[in-house]
Amino acid sequence: MTHPLLDLAPLSAAHFASIEDRVARLLRTEQDVVIPQGEALLPLEGAIRGVAGPGTTALNVITGPYGQTFGNWLRDCGATVIDLAVPFHTAVTAGQISEAFAEHPEIDFVSLVHAEAATGNTNPVAEIGEVVRAHGALFHLDAVASVGAEPVLPDAWGVDLCVIGAQKAMGGPAGVSAVSVSERAWTRMAANPRAPRRSYLSLLDWKERWIDGGRRALPHAPAQLEMLALEACVERIEREGLETVMARHASAAAATRAGALALGGGLEPYVHEVAQAAPVATTLRAPSGVVAAELVRRALEADPAVPLAAGGGPLAKEMIRVNHYGADATRAAVRSSLTALGFALAERGLDVDVAEALRAAERAWQ
Ligand SMILES: *Cc1c(COP(=O)(O)O)cnc(C)c1O
Repeated sequence: MTHPLLDLAPLSAAHFASIEDRVARLLRTEQDVVIPQGEALLPLEGAIRGVAGPGTTALNVITGPYGQTFGNWLRDCGATVIDLAVPFHTAVTAGQISEAFAEHPEIDFVSLVHAEAATGNTNPVAEIGEVVRAHGALFHLDAVASVGAEPVLPDAWGVDLCVIGAQKAMGGPAGVSAVSVSERAWTRMAANPRAPRRSYLSLLDWKERWIDGGRRALPHAPAQLEMLALEACVERIEREGLETVMARHASAAAATRAGALALGGGLEPYVHEVAQAAPVATTLRAPSGVVAAELVRRALEADPAVPLAAGGGPLAKEMIRVNHYGADATRAAVRSSLTALGFALAERGLDVDVAEALRAAERAWQ
């Protein structure tokens, strides 16, 4: 008996290359696109370890938990790390990046997370890219949570290493990711004696064994299921239209924010400024005296299908995440999230108005 997930024909080199090209078109990039066969943490770590070494002075921008992880990798590589942390309810500004360069002109690498699904903020990459380019530093961007939800334009923004993943706004499974690599980034990696080689983390291996050979022979058996899923994701986005997909995420964020404010009960947007709130996911601050994780647990008991989660780690107390991305970037998911939150708040005796929240969400959607 054949099985659609199990009995797959081998993925040819030509097919693999065509999926890379499709991802490149999604990102409007002329750079090389590498699909390193793993969850997004793989290219993120591969990119950082590829370029960083004891000679590197890295500006590591921390606007959420991923920035912290990248700083640890950079230190692990022997780089001098300048951490620029901003409160998770805001975004970093290009001015702050300029100031960091003024204080430390030796910075030659900048790592930034575009949007943070975990904290709900988004950073002005285009403006920051101008500053980074003016100083000649290499620019690494984690666009896992932004791709599909808002524009991600590595070439226009001067991003040298742009990592995406399929599991957020692209609406795909975890386990597939890609990274675009500029010529400058390849040069830095080739000159870095610490860059991983003959390793699963090595982007240079992909260049030397795959790209430089004209993408005719794959270095090892590709992860077929994941590659086909990535192709299907991009194809579905192409069919709906990237602009439409992004608009759906922007509407979901606006509707969730407006709905939460109208719901009452002391619920507030976690990110203060609308312009700094990510379209991929909306974070809310639990009313004082209410533990966010508890509230989410009750909301999920009322409706297990809603895309709600509590913040991770220490944020579990105060942060509610509405993960309205991918297939959940819909009116229905926003409405059911607000309704379930309204139920959980009302249960605690808080004064909420679900009908008004749904009306406000509908108005904001348009
Ligand atoms: C989701 C996400 C990733 C991928 O990490 P997982 O937790 O394994 O899904 C990386 N960076 C950012 C900014 C993300 O939001």
